[in-house]
Amino acid sequence: MKFLLEADLDKLAKWMRFLGQDVLVLKGAINKRSIVEHTDRVFITTSRKWEKHLRDWRVNYLILPRDDWKVQLCLILKHFQIKPKLLLNRCPHCNAELELISKEDVKSAIPPMVYQFGYHFTRCAECKSIFWKGTHLPKMKRTLKSVLKRC
Ligand SMILES: [Zn+2]
Repeated sequence: MKFLLEADLDKLAKWMRFLGQDVLVLKGAINKRSIVEHTDRVFITTSRKWEKHLRDWRVNYLILPRDDWKVQLCLILKHFQIKPKLLLNRCPHCNAELELISKEDVKSAIPPMVYQFGYHFTRCAECKSIFWKGTHLPKMKRTLKSVLKRC
């Protein structure tokens, strides 16, 4: 399952990518051209006014309530039966897959504390952002737990 989200769902997109989902985000307003070029994706929106068009264009879609991103993420996990597991295998900024790298490779690009305590270093093949597991991981797990309580 692959997804296309409307532009203002970017926080939701980031969290779906943390869970390993393939998620593109529309740049700018909803328009026919940018949606029909991605009919292989489920379009996620909070706007009811496009529903008739989406049906006409034969696009798979899901309309979410205009709510907190945690409620929206919870609805998506349930609707598509996605496992709530932090896979962290996709760039939260640009959706590209992350490649495993050694921390020696990025020593000069990361703070000393990260070098000392970070582990499982990855780099985005597209935007070259560097990620690692470390002290922020328990916080992410707690956030995900709080999301699951919102279902
Ligand atoms: Zn990236």
